[in-house]
Amino acid sequence: DNAFLEVSHLKKYFDLGHDRILKAVDDVSLNVRKGKTLGIVGESGCGKTTFGRTVLGIYEKSGGKVVFDGKDTDDMSEKEHFQLKKRMQMIFQDPYASLNPRSTVLDLIAEPMDIHHLFKHGRDRRTRVGELLQEVGLSVDFLNRYPHEFSGGQRQRIGIARALALRPEFVIADEPISALDVSVQAQVVQLLKQLQKEKGLTMMFIAHDLSMVKYISDDVAVMYLGHLVEQTSSRVLYDRPLHPYTQALLSAIPIPDPDVEEKRKRIILSGDLPSPINPPDGCVFRTRCPFAMAICTSEKPSLKEVAEGHYVACHLHPGAKSGDAARMKQVL
Ligand code: SF4
Repeated sequence: DNAFLEVSHLKKYFDLGHDRILKAVDDVSLNVRKGKTLGIVGESGCGKTTFGRTVLGIYEKSGGKVVFDGKDTDDMSEKEHFQLKKRMQMIFQDPYASLNPRSTVLDLIAEPMDIHHLFKHGRDRRTRVGELLQEVGLSVDFLNRYPHEFSGGQRQRIGIARALALRPEFVIADEPISALDVSVQAQVVQLLKQLQKEKGLTMMFIAHDLSMVKYISDDVAVMYLGHLVEQTSSRVLYDRPLHPYTQALLSAIPIPDPDVEEKRKRIILSGDLPSPINPPDGCVFRTRCPFAMAICTSEKPSLKEVAEGHYVACHLHPGAKSGDAARMKQVL
């Protein structure tokens, strides 16, 4: 499959002064296939949001490369960068905070199109915003209303309509359901999935747990403390997770069947997420890993392809080519 977005060795460091550097994203390489959804998962503080923002150019990268549809963003002219802003859009986590309370729904959704001077007539502007409202399952009667008149789910739909206004090819949804009631989370995920299919969007769906990601993602990448620790297809990740951190995240998802739930082995992670300002030497996960060995302190595991399209950064999985597959452990 064609990669629509190719990220290599991306770094985003924040200089906090007094020789303190926050390595929010440290040497992350991954691809997003054209017309597919990549889920990015990890606890808060793992760098996933910073990663998304750095890919979009909202934050300036500290190192590495972002290739968008075959073109290195470093080689783009100013005009191409402006066009790129149209082609890549973001859906924000908190629909309350991301919408200006004093703007009508019409102005909120039309704003990105106004920036690009897309309309000569107010009539066309209204018609287009009306279409977008319908696409996200809202009534055209909402055009002159204000964000406070809507529920959280409706506000997130307005945020989605706004992100789709410029007909982007690539969308990053940054925890789009975390601020919503559980009852509306599935509806918003369903809407995003449907829009992604209808429009052939390439999407990155950022989330802090693996439960909803399963329904929307073709591929999943797991991040921990600024590092990518595992990436593979959604099916393989849920059936055969290899990194101990992925296994722990999966074991935390409750299973509705009590018989299965009872027999299941849960992996409880000890301790808190270490500070990314002062990450552990060697493997960044070693302070919480139930399988940590001596080598985990002395050597940082690199991301290796252990099976076709399945990448893992862990000394338990030294790579398919080393013939040491017997050391692979699976605890689920
Ligand atoms: Fe655990 Fe070591 Fe693998 Fe890190 S490299 S995840 S500490 S076993």
